[in-house]
Amino acid sequence: MMQRRSFLAAAAGLACRPAAAGDRPKVVATFSILGDLVRQVAGDRVELAVLVGPDSDAHAYQPRPADARQLADAQVMVSNGLGFEGWIERLAKAAPFRGRAIVASTGVATLEAASLPGHAHAHGPDPHCWQDVGRTRRYVETIVAGLAAADPPGAAGYRERGAAYDRRLAILDAWIREEIGRVPAPQRRVITSHDAFHYFQAAYGVTFLAPRGVSTESEPSARDLALLIRQIREQKIRALFLENMGNPRLIEQIARETGGIVGPRLYSDSLSGPDGPAATYEAMMRHNAGALVAGMARN
Ligand code: ZN
Repeated sequence: MMQRRSFLAAAAGLACRPAAAGDRPKVVATFSILGDLVRQVAGDRVELAVLVGPDSDAHAYQPRPADARQLADAQVMVSNGLGFEGWIERLAKAAPFRGRAIVASTGVATLEAASLPGHAHAHGPDPHCWQDVGRTRRYVETIVAGLAAADPPGAAGYRERGAAYDRRLAILDAWIREEIGRVPAPQRRVITSHDAFHYFQAAYGVTFLAPRGVSTESEPSARDLALLIRQIREQKIRALFLENMGNPRLIEQIARETGGIVGPRLYSDSLSGPDGPAATYEAMMRHNAGALVAGMARN
């Protein structure tokens, strides 16, 4: 963008405002998934910074001084809300952030976090709404409206890219339904190590059983684990999944004792790096759905 602009300015031989990058609104997104949504809507129109990058846990994040500097310079901040980024309010205050705050989950129907052990947000609404593409479309609407308000000259572009992205998300949503629909309903059960798929469960009809979900403690007791293993055997669940942030040892123990098969990583709270299977939100959802279907076919 910068190159193209300076080239055009040079070609036209016109006096142009200096520092092309400075012309673009600076937007900070709190974590990688939101960063991708903003990128899809804004393209190169904004200068985007993401605080919690790929393969990193936003729950346990420790903000750095550089993050405060990013926020102090930003015109727009995009966060998930619902307590997902427990550290953001303090950081924004300390920066200080003086721009427009877009809370992406605004207006989204939430589910209660019955038990999200190991999460700071074990009570109140479950923040992982993006695991349902339908709810993510609402996020995109909110991001489009927020960016358009913050940067009126760019509004038409945000709306246009937002509408094109929304059409892709509608197709993605239908595709996931179709894929999951290929698995007979009684087989749609998996075990995961991180309890972040309530919205996927509600939207697409897959039951996720999390080892830690059986207990309010951070590690299940021997008794909880024995109960879970019995449940897996009785229900003949062979689809076991680790996550990009899960503790593999527990799942491997369960796999050994139940004859289950550990599938590829599911991405719940972050994207993968650019060369991974979940470099964008769409790729992440396709990867997860494909892995789930392959795993559940063995149940
Ligand atoms: Zn989470």
